[in-house]
This record gives sequence, structure tokens and C-alpha cells, in this order.
Amino acid sequence: MGPMRDRIVVLGSLNTDFVVSVESLPRPGETVRAGPLRTFAGGKGANQAAAAARLGAETMMFGRVGEDERGHRLREGLRDNGVDVGGVFVDAGEPTGSALVLVDGRGQNMIAVSPGANRRVNQQDAARAVAAAGPMGVLLLQLEVPLDAVRAAVTLGAAAGCRIVLNAAPAAELEEALLSALTVLVVNGGEASLLSGRSVNDEASARDAGARLLGLGLPNVVITLGASGSLLCNRKEAGLFRAPTVPAVDTTAAGDAFVGALAVGMAARAELQEAVRLATLAGAAAVTREGAQDSLPDREDLYRMFGDEVTRF
Ligand code: ADP
Repeated sequence: MGPMRDRIVVLGSLNTDFVVSVESLPRPGETVRAGPLRTFAGGKGANQAAAAARLGAETMMFGRVGEDERGHRLREGLRDNGVDVGGVFVDAGEPTGSALVLVDGRGQNMIAVSPGANRRVNQQDAARAVAAAGPMGVLLLQLEVPLDAVRAAVTLGAAAGCRIVLNAAPAAELEEALLSALTVLVVNGGEASLLSGRSVNDEASARDAGARLLGLGLPNVVITLGASGSLLCNRKEAGLFRAPTVPAVDTTAAGDAFVGALAVGMAARAELQEAVRLATLAGAAAVTREGAQDSLPDREDLYRMFGDEVTRF
């Protein structure tokens, strides 16, 4: 990948994650005993921005936090990770977003999100993000802010000539007009199932879901498959990128590490296959550590863990 780098602009959520470990996740109606409460910086938008910046990309974040101590800390934390937080507005109308996270002994999780200030992200924020990205930028979006803001970002971003990456998480149904304007759609198995109507549980069903999604007019679909890696589908090919075997401690931010790294590869003007390969390694690195933003790998982590498998970027 060449030395030239384009800017990554993230429009999305910032949350405080309140995390406890449990032996096994509770069933409905069940109460389980948990370990000590820990708090981490999180939110898919912020995590993906931090993931990109930690890998060395010029990254700007647009979003909203409340006028409270948690919001202040989230902005500071992102800045410490190298993210330009000039687009993160303090909004007195709602508290900073929160996520309640349970993690079990096998690294599986359950999450409930209270959006707070993320709910106030709007079309003006989208317009500002697109203006910051410009025609050379990679615009990175998720679904933890209102869909109207995401729609505006996609429409304006496409008109401005940005490359648009949508991580359609948490899972939601989306209209064809929105999907067809994307450069890359990134989904996990569950999200791919919802959007394609084809239940994804292995590589074969992921290929099928990917083909259906391409039928909606998208050029590229990436489906993440946990420990199995990821699948890149476009009109030329459908290729599986195997994840390296790693000790899984906490899968909380694996998807975010993946998406952030994918954007970094794209900003470096790598072939999309190379960007997906990098993303797959970054996702694997993230599951070896606890927490969200704190578990994201930097360049040195990737080279140390995976050596020559890492494409230079
Ligand atoms: P999400 O967390 O969004 O559901 P996935 O579980 O599919 O997403 O994980 C995203 C990426 O993280 C995978 O494509 C893979 O690269 C990496 N990953 C996730 N779990 C593991 C694991 N147990 N071992 C190795 N890599 C993993």
C-alpha cells in the first residue's frame, strides 16, 4: 500500500460501556452473579474512529455527547487515541450514551444500549461530516445514530464523491436506495441474515447472502464470520479471509477493530482485498484483550502478533 493516505471521517456514536463478567449469560428472567463493574470508552462510532487512528490514519469524529463528565472523558479519550474530536458536539439535551455489557467465560457478550445524546445526531452533523471528508475521504457510518442522519450522510457523501463504508450494526432493515449508494457494506452474520433474508451460519450461506445483497446494487459486501474470518463479495469474486487462531478473551470490539482497519486500508488506497485482509487480522487482535477502545490494536501490535501476514500500510 502506498504512502498516500486519505482522511477517514466517522459519523457515529460515543458511549460509556458498563461491563461485568458473568460465568454464563442469563436467560430471560434469570439473575446471575457478576464480577466487579468496569467502565470503558465505547460506542461503535468512537471505537471505529479509535481503531483507525491507532493504526495511524488521519481520523475525524462527528457525533454528540451530553454535557457531563462521561462525555468529557470520552472526547478526551478519543483525542488521546489520535482522533480529531472537533466534530463531537456537547449537547445539553441528553446525557452521554451508555451501553450495558455482559461478557461470559467464553468471550460471548450481551449488550443493551441507551443512546442518550447519540439520538440527537442529525442531518446538519451529517453535512458537516461530509464537508470534512471531501471527495478524497472515506466516510465511515454505523447505525447507532438516527437513521435520518445516516441517510443524509449517504446521500450527501455520494454526491460529494466520498467512498462510503456502512457497518450496518446494530442490525436494522435498510432500503435499497441507501444500500445502493454505498462503496462497501460491512455486516456480521446476524446483520447479513436480516438484510438478505438468508440465514447466515457458515461460509456457504454467507456467500449466498452476499450474492443477494450484491443484487441490491452494491459494489462490495463484507460479511464478518467471527473466528472463521470474513468474506468479501463483489462482482468479480467472493473470497474468504481466514482469521488467525487466537485466544479469545472478549469479542466486544472485534467488529469495530475490523471496520476501522478496513477504512485504514481504503484510505491508504489499498486493493479492497488487502484492506479486508488487514481488517481480519485487526479483528482477531481485538478479541485477545478486554474492553472496547482499550482493546484495539495499533500497528506494532499487528506486526508483533502476525508478522509477515500483515500487509504494509
Ligand atoms: P461482530 O463482533 O461485529 O459480531 P465478528 O464476530 O464477525 O463481528 O468479528 C469480526 C472480526 O473479528 C472477524 O471477521 C475476525 O476477523 C475477528 N474475530 C472475531 N472473533 C474471532 C475469534 N474468536 N478468533 C479470531 N478472530 C476473530
